[in-house]
Amino acid sequence: MTSGLIRFGLALAVVLGVASGSQAGDAKVKAVASFSIVDDMVKNVGGDRVEVITLVGPDGDAHVFSPTPTDAKALAQADILFVNGLGFEGWMQRLETSSGFKGPVVVASTGVKPIEMHEEGHHHGDEDDDKGEDHDAEEVSDPHAWQSLANGKLYVANIRDGLIAVDPAGRAIYEANAAKYLDAIAKEETDVKAAIAKLPPERRRIITSHDAFGYFASAYGLEVIAPEGVSTESEASAQDVAKIIRQIRAEKIPAVFLENISDRRLLDQIASETGAKIGGTLYFDALSPPDGPAPTYLDMFRHNVGALAAALSS
Ligand code: ZN
Repeated sequence: MTSGLIRFGLALAVVLGVASGSQAGDAKVKAVASFSIVDDMVKNVGGDRVEVITLVGPDGDAHVFSPTPTDAKALAQADILFVNGLGFEGWMQRLETSSGFKGPVVVASTGVKPIEMHEEGHHHGDEDDDKGEDHDAEEVSDPHAWQSLANGKLYVANIRDGLIAVDPAGRAIYEANAAKYLDAIAKEETDVKAAIAKLPPERRRIITSHDAFGYFASAYGLEVIAPEGVSTESEASAQDVAKIIRQIRAEKIPAVFLENISDRRLLDQIASETGAKIGGTLYFDALSPPDGPAPTYLDMFRHNVGALAAALSS
């Protein structure tokens, strides 16, 4: 019993020693980011002072992620955690608890005006018709706020302030890195608005599999129809798909877009039944690997806007 307590005490001392050592001297700030887009932002602001571990990496689906013991260990050793918030990382609370992480959590979307969705519950039965649609509907916030560059600027400011709080000695560096990055985001914002404005208004309508493009659509002027709702957790029902096929035919929606994180079969089916063309792959919830078309947050916008312009220009 006694020796067990001593061992526990020693282990605790070692853990605390490691944790405090990471703050001292030249050691880097150890950050954990919940997914690839926040990871890229933290790297831009943190530069050489920060070492980032990402839980959901490139091409990964953060809606349905299952953390491993390795993830818990990484978080246990971290100085700071960066998450999206808005209900995106439903698994995070459990991971925080199981890892014992007690450090600061920066919710990158703090200050964003959320898009509220009237989301239907999970219909898998065959009893529903359009009249019964809202009996288990619920209000949920659309978590994909990073898809507006105006929101991206808020993310960067929150990340900068979080890093300064945990590493005040780096303030000047974080402020300079953030200022440079915010300029690049502002420039990209101008480019995106100009590119979308060139598309014929009647062609600015697309289909995606899950509803991850709401902030983009609302910021830049696009209509998006998505069979799966704002999470990838629930599958579209046969009725949802039939309804969308009718809508595409009636409204002559020109293009269907695949996603890097989702199965393409549903959209292949919709495209073949309606004659809408497959407009390529859009990146919503995850970046591509470094050698892919969207390895950074800003590359993601360039790629997505290029794919939209190619498919929707007349
Ligand atoms: Zn999503």
